[in-house]
Amino acid sequence: MTQLEPNFEKFSHSGSSERCPSCGSISSDVIFIYSLRDQASYIYRCNSCALEFLRPLPLSQIDERQMDSIDDAELFHSELFQSLHKKLIIAPEISSVQKLLGRTDFTMLDVGCGTGWISRIWADTGAHVTGLEPSTVRAAVARERGIRVLSCYAEELEGSEMYDLIVLRHVVEHLEDPKAILRSFVSRLNPDGLLLVVVPNIDCIGRKMFSGLDVGLAVAL
Ligand SMILES: [Zn+2]
Repeated sequence: MTQLEPNFEKFSHSGSSERCPSCGSISSDVIFIYSLRDQASYIYRCNSCALEFLRPLPLSQIDERQMDSIDDAELFHSELFQSLHKKLIIAPEISSVQKLLGRTDFTMLDVGCGTGWISRIWADTGAHVTGLEPSTVRAAVARERGIRVLSCYAEELEGSEMYDLIVLRHVVEHLEDPKAILRSFVSRLNPDGLLLVVVPNIDCIGRKMFSGLDVGLAVAL
């Protein structure tokens, strides 16, 4: 029977030679095993830069990524979780970016914007937000929220539109070559533009609280 829910267990193996996608070192330790759909992957910790990353990626090919559902796109549709997320994470991000850019009406590309509920928060503070979202179902919901959305994968983005801010929230950890994607987005920044990259933290309090349960969101790059 195909396993549909991810499983995540502690694992310990030193001296692996998996290449770190950040610094390129081939010295790493395995610290967790992650399985999904009968495929096992490992979470490595790089011995040079301490990045924790998953390999092989369970859904490395574009046509394997199934995102035509909005079930997990809005923090379980919980108003409480959304309001906490907005207050503790998004509002401080917006405030920091506004200070760094020195204005509120900057242009922004929200990569993997999903249903656009976070894009909407940025737009409400004055940002001119364009979303990038390959899931047509999620993109449609984002458009209903008044967000302009380009429907394609990050690797497939064409055109030469430039932005003051590009946000990759929980995107790069899903990609085989995160450096290439980061470089491609840096080239789309206006002078003095900002790239905001958000990745999971395996030591986050959420994973510690829910240890042993489905903690797929805690998988690190
Ligand atoms: Zn490294």
